[in-house]
Amino acid sequence: LTLLLLLSFSLGIAQKNKTKLKPKAEFVSDLMNQMTVDEKIYQLVQFTSDGTVTGPKTGDNYITWIKQGKVGSVLNCTGAQATREVQRINLENSRLKIPILFGHDVIHGYKTIFPINLGLAASFDMKAIERASQIAAAEASAGGVHWTFAPMVDIARDPRWGRISEGSGEDTYLGSQIAMASVRGFQGDDLSKTNTILACAKHFAAYGAAEAGRDYNTTDMSERVLREVYLRPFKAAVDAGVKTFMTSFNEIAGIPSTANKYLLRDILKSEWKFGGMVVSDYTGVNEMIAHGFAKDDQDAAQLALNAGLDMDMVGATFMKTLRKSYDEGKVSMAVIDDACRRVLELKYDLGLFEDPYRYSDEKREKETIYKKEYLDAALDIANKTLVLLKNKNNVLPLNASQKISFVGPLVSDENHIIGSWAALGDRGGVAVSVKEGVEKLLGANAKATFDKGVDFDKADPSEMNQALANAAKADVVVAVMGERENQTGEAASQTNIDLSVTQKNFLMELKKTGKPIVLVLMSGRPMTISWENENLDAILDAWYPGTRGGDAIAQTLFGQNNPSGKLPVTFPRSVGQIPIYYNHKNTGRPYLGPTDPEQKYKSRYTDSAIEPLYPFGYGLSYTAFAYDNFKLSSKTIRFGEKLKISIDVANTGSYDGIEVVQLYLRDLVGSVTRPMRELKGFERVSLKKGEKKTVVFEISSDDLKFYNIDMKNEAEAGDFEVFVGGNSDAQSRGLFGLVK
Ligand code: BGC
Repeated sequence: LTLLLLLSFSLGIAQKNKTKLKPKAEFVSDLMNQMTVDEKIYQLVQFTSDGTVTGPKTGDNYITWIKQGKVGSVLNCTGAQATREVQRINLENSRLKIPILFGHDVIHGYKTIFPINLGLAASFDMKAIERASQIAAAEASAGGVHWTFAPMVDIARDPRWGRISEGSGEDTYLGSQIAMASVRGFQGDDLSKTNTILACAKHFAAYGAAEAGRDYNTTDMSERVLREVYLRPFKAAVDAGVKTFMTSFNEIAGIPSTANKYLLRDILKSEWKFGGMVVSDYTGVNEMIAHGFAKDDQDAAQLALNAGLDMDMVGATFMKTLRKSYDEGKVSMAVIDDACRRVLELKYDLGLFEDPYRYSDEKREKETIYKKEYLDAALDIANKTLVLLKNKNNVLPLNASQKISFVGPLVSDENHIIGSWAALGDRGGVAVSVKEGVEKLLGANAKATFDKGVDFDKADPSEMNQALANAAKADVVVAVMGERENQTGEAASQTNIDLSVTQKNFLMELKKTGKPIVLVLMSGRPMTISWENENLDAILDAWYPGTRGGDAIAQTLFGQNNPSGKLPVTFPRSVGQIPIYYNHKNTGRPYLGPTDPEQKYKSRYTDSAIEPLYPFGYGLSYTAFAYDNFKLSSKTIRFGEKLKISIDVANTGSYDGIEVVQLYLRDLVGSVTRPMRELKGFERVSLKKGEKKTVVFEISSDDLKFYNIDMKNEAEAGDFEVFVGGNSDAQSRGLFGLVK
């Protein structure tokens, strides 16, 4: 008892006088020496502040449990005032004054909303992505948030899957770079600073490979594909110092991730030496009963903890059953201690033991949220994410003297433009619609009209006729169309990824006016827009561009911003081609196209081309780029050596512009078959009109590693083909050899 009093006393002193605490390991050990088994278990419990708890229902809510000292972490409680109040209730009732850890989904912004993550990926701009995460952390931390459940680093090759919008697309190299940039942005270099927060690499693992693109569905794949494609971005996040992981809802090869010992203990905590904490996804522990992997909550909790899960999100299984499992010898003290230590260490890293209220700062919250600098950054970043997919006869950029008819359900929209996973982002006053953006840009000179024309799924004839009449009088029509924001995101998988029939019919009517038509497409996934590609004059993919989205679209349409985004994911011609991705394997019967004399027995479709509509890495500019003067620093390299690959890129068009120069390699022969090409480097190169620059990539034999026939991650001697250009169809430029 004396010791206890001493400890809480010393903690109290630390809070008041901000005295330096003991070093982390010692502090946490001292604290854990005071904790009962139950108190340790309660550190592993997370509840949501909205009170929804599936699983065992008791009528309790999270505040009741906090008052009983049973909660280590809370999600969805945000705002300086609310977090301060909940923390106060906790500390008043916590015997050892252990602060609560507040988590929230800060996915592409907190209040200032950036483009959805798939859009951010299209920027291929790691500085921009880091900056977006930094700003999100600054705003969220001022609102009392300690921990974001981001970045989502799931590789996704199936646009039917609604959560493709939340990740970085199909490529493991791009995804890994983005994972690192996001972690750096959220966590900064010092977590004890109040403007940085814990990041969380999710969903571990292979969630994006859900069968048939149906959310939460089964995945099954070879260990080689798992490690080489799906796990690499997670490893990159670990290398960047990410402090937490979230498990995925799916099973892999029969084992739900939430209790997958091979993933959590063997790979993550042993092989990768991850010292941070692993949280389940929302009720993921209980859900193992439905999976048929656990017979009840106690069984599920025990399986999860033993497999390496540290915290139970929302499901209450740890809270209600782990003590019993401990008493029955099903979980050991060592396992509970290990999990508890990981949680307490994070609280220490954040400085919560020194001052549990340090993030909940109303003054800073007011000064930080929607700061002008942040809103400007949101515009700047949104500009980088727009992808120009087609621009026939240079219909874009528009000019202010033209009569322009803006039509479509998203013209005046301030809701969908924010995208999903932005619960706190304003979808009214602060959000800028396309109409507002255009009006702001054109000022009094505006000769533009703005008509909805049709809704996503219904047409009012008088609204439609009004829009058609304005279109008939215009020089150019700009149709702002796409999906509702809630057609992507969690639990929003689709079998049909066409533009809705109503919007398409309206486009057909617009086409009858004979005017050039520009489609500004908003969606959280690649859409099957073959008809639009054939029939419309220009297509600008805007994803969901966020708070300043309308400004970015206006600036881009009118040439104040020259589009530079590139697709982080392949656009299929039809859902029948899915899954389709650029870094596929060759077959033994590669189809050589319609002139292939033996095409009948080749790897192809009888009713469709095999190529996608737009390949990975694709995106046009208002200017043109020419590549020339390809050079390799050497024809061969040895293991451990580096190779320089250089090429000149010239802006040969009539606008200043930015080109994302992409390097792809193909390992021609391997002990296992290798992809047709793989992205190994990219650089955003800014070129004034007429300007030329030399771009140099450096690769080493380490960049040539893959999981070989013995499942060792090693490079093999042999020849490599080099492709450099502006998309994944980049031209072949030469060969080099890796020699012993
Ligand atoms: C999602 C996670 C999210 C969590 C907390 C789950 O449904 O899958 O990505 O972080 O909810 O909101």
